[in-house]
Amino acid sequence: MRTPLIAGNWKMNGSVERVRAFGEAFAGADFSAAVEVAVIPPFPYLPAAAQAFAGTPLALGAQTFNPLPAGAHTGEVNAAMLVEFGVSYVLVGHSERRQHYGETNADVCQRVCAALGAGLIPVLCVGETLDERNAGATRDVVLGQVAAVMQHLEASQRERLVIAYEPVWAIGTGVTATPAEAQATMGEIRTWLATLDNALAETLRLLYGGSMKASNAAELLAQPDIDGGLVGGASLQIDDFFAICQSAG
Ligand code: PEP
Repeated sequence: MRTPLIAGNWKMNGSVERVRAFGEAFAGADFSAAVEVAVIPPFPYLPAAAQAFAGTPLALGAQTFNPLPAGAHTGEVNAAMLVEFGVSYVLVGHSERRQHYGETNADVCQRVCAALGAGLIPVLCVGETLDERNAGATRDVVLGQVAAVMQHLEASQRERLVIAYEPVWAIGTGVTATPAEAQATMGEIRTWLATLDNALAETLRLLYGGSMKASNAAELLAQPDIDGGLVGGASLQIDDFFAICQSAG
């Protein structure tokens, strides 16, 4: 049985006020046993979020980090710092990081290992671009991104991962993959995982990301291989995000 996870990626948005408002709004939420919920604000809000989310069902996530342990890396944040502020989840390989900051599969793999080493849960983001989809390369691209990480991990590390399938053409565009399209690719991911380890395929959570909203979440989450959502835009509004979490519970 896989507990659904809904994770809200605020990207470069938010404020201390928004953090406080989320803490207050989720304080009385009682879906904690049926669904796990994480909010992933920008770095500066982590301390305020750790405080505001205490006693609520909201776990804390970070959007990226530097896999090196410490040193002369101006502007960077390491995994131990995230742990110190109560972070549980960290996004790795988000398409915006791959596209705009040049993160390669090798970088992604290094981050996943560093996150696991620090006790964080990496949310490995994978997904094809529109050109790749139109060229019929979705399966190869997505499984290639998954394999690039999984092949370097021990069995005990693999089982601690979450994978988010996020078709790049659906992120921030308002165009959501249909439930059937999302299920088709996510079913391929789970089938591939089973070739490594049947138990892993049964337990590893697969999230869908890409214009998930209150109006389409239930239909997406009803698919057999969709165990939750990575939500961008709709995670910024309390009512929308709350409704998505309720759809999963
Ligand atoms: C994301 O950034 O991971 C995402 C899914 O964004 P949106 O929901 O806005 O498409």
